[in-house]
Amino acid sequence: MIATAAEPPLRREWSRSQILLISGGLAAVLAIVGIVSSLLIREHADAKTAAARAATNIVQLIDADVLRNAELYDTSLSGIILAWQRSDLMSISPELRQMVLFDRSTAAPYKGDLLLLDQKGDILADSTSVVPRRDNFADRPNFDWHRQHSDSTLQVGGPFRSYSNFNDWCLTFSRRMSGPDGEFMGVATSAMRVVYFKNLFKNLNVGQNSSVALINSQGILITRQPDFLGKDLVGTDFSKQPNFQRMLREENGSFSGISGLDNLERLYTFSRVGDLPLIVVVGQSLDEVYTVWRRNMLLVAGATGLLCIGIMWLTLLLCRELRLRHQAETELAQMAATDSLTGLPNRRQLDQVMRQEWARAQRSGQPMALLMIDVDHFKAFNDRHGHNGGDEALRRVAQTFTETIRRPGDLAARYGGEEFLIILPETDLAGARLMAEKIRLAVQAMPRFANDPQPITVSIGIAAQTAGPADKLAALFGVADKALYEAKRKGRNRVEQAAFVPCPEDVS
Ligand code: GH3
Ligand code: MG
Ligand code: MG
Repeated sequence: MIATAAEPPLRREWSRSQILLISGGLAAVLAIVGIVSSLLIREHADAKTAAARAATNIVQLIDADVLRNAELYDTSLSGIILAWQRSDLMSISPELRQMVLFDRSTAAPYKGDLLLLDQKGDILADSTSVVPRRDNFADRPNFDWHRQHSDSTLQVGGPFRSYSNFNDWCLTFSRRMSGPDGEFMGVATSAMRVVYFKNLFKNLNVGQNSSVALINSQGILITRQPDFLGKDLVGTDFSKQPNFQRMLREENGSFSGISGLDNLERLYTFSRVGDLPLIVVVGQSLDEVYTVWRRNMLLVAGATGLLCIGIMWLTLLLCRELRLRHQAETELAQMAATDSLTGLPNRRQLDQVMRQEWARAQRSGQPMALLMIDVDHFKAFNDRHGHNGGDEALRRVAQTFTETIRRPGDLAARYGGEEFLIILPETDLAGARLMAEKIRLAVQAMPRFANDPQPITVSIGIAAQTAGPADKLAALFGVADKALYEAKRKGRNRVEQAAFVPCPEDVS
């Protein structure tokens, strides 16, 4: 009864503080994890942006270099066409003509032969010999293109393998030569060895598993640095690759995608070279792009994990301390409410419960009964068995009470000395008498103490009342006390009742 009357508010309080503590710890952990995660996500994005920016710088450098070379070739080709169209060119010596035609072309790096072709594709002038070699280029794609298009701007073709001067991959730069009325007069064409780009790319440091490539708008690879599995891959067709198609569509930018070559995820940064049908691509290994980030992430995640474990550990430790404190408080409260000899609720606890039950009875309109019990001739018992024997007898009597009362609301308490009080809520006088008789008989039936010829007996005074709002507990208490007196007077070991007389004073 003590436990049910006193503990619930305490337990609720304790649980709430524990829940608050754990929620606070969890909230702190979640906040830390959230902040660290968002920082790591931002750093992850920053790593990609920084890598893309560095790659963009490289792409722009290459872009400018390729464009500059294209301009050099264009200048050479324009020079040849202009010179050829001069009417006095044929009047000078072949050696001088050679010089006039090809002197502008010397600056272009890695140049192959420069040729001027007539309408049929035959060589009119050749940079490699004063007397042009006999060859026909009518079947070359760029020649055919110029014949069919009046466009006289620079065209880029290839890559193709040249077997003439050097056994090497080349690009062609060509321009159409038109007559006064725009008619097709031939083509000025020049070859450039793609090894130039290879050497240019070699000097760029883009990192391991990363590559720099030049590819034409048909998706044919012109150069890739480094070689892939020992092959230069020049001439490989990438036109069907989704990555290439995206580059063709977007012209310049940056995206990550899976390489069609080795299935590695790369960050591709690319740019179209001016208006030329060429695309420069830097493909960086994503693994490498995120190397520093990954190392930082592991460090930060480890430290954060430790911090979170520490916070939760401290929280649980604090919870444990709270629980222990609560247990100690509960034990103290229980000790303060318990009679140390019999283990029954003591007088203090009895008063509190009695008031609670009285108030409850007043609210519910149910009767409440009190049993005032006194051990008979206990002084004499003490004299026979000593004080220790008397203590033991009180313990046994108390145990008999608790074993006899069965309803959860009933309460047996030590009132003082060899006097006890039993509260029976929702019990009328008849019920109380029944219960009192049961108790009296149970005590009488207890095994004799140390072969004592006299049994231990109790006298019981009972009182029961359906409490009205104005009725006082003290009155009921007084009735029980009076009844007990009657029981004693009438010879002890008996149950007596007395009439309820309202009394203005409270029991306390
Ligand atoms: P009655 O039948 O009229 O009640 O007689 P009684 O002797 O029981 O009553 P009385 O009030 O004269 O004596 C009560 C005795 O109970 C006196 C006291 O020594 C004894 N007593 C009270 N408390 C304790 C206790 O805690 N331990 C022991 N051993 N004896 C106690
Ligand atoms: Mg007494
Ligand atoms: Mg007595």
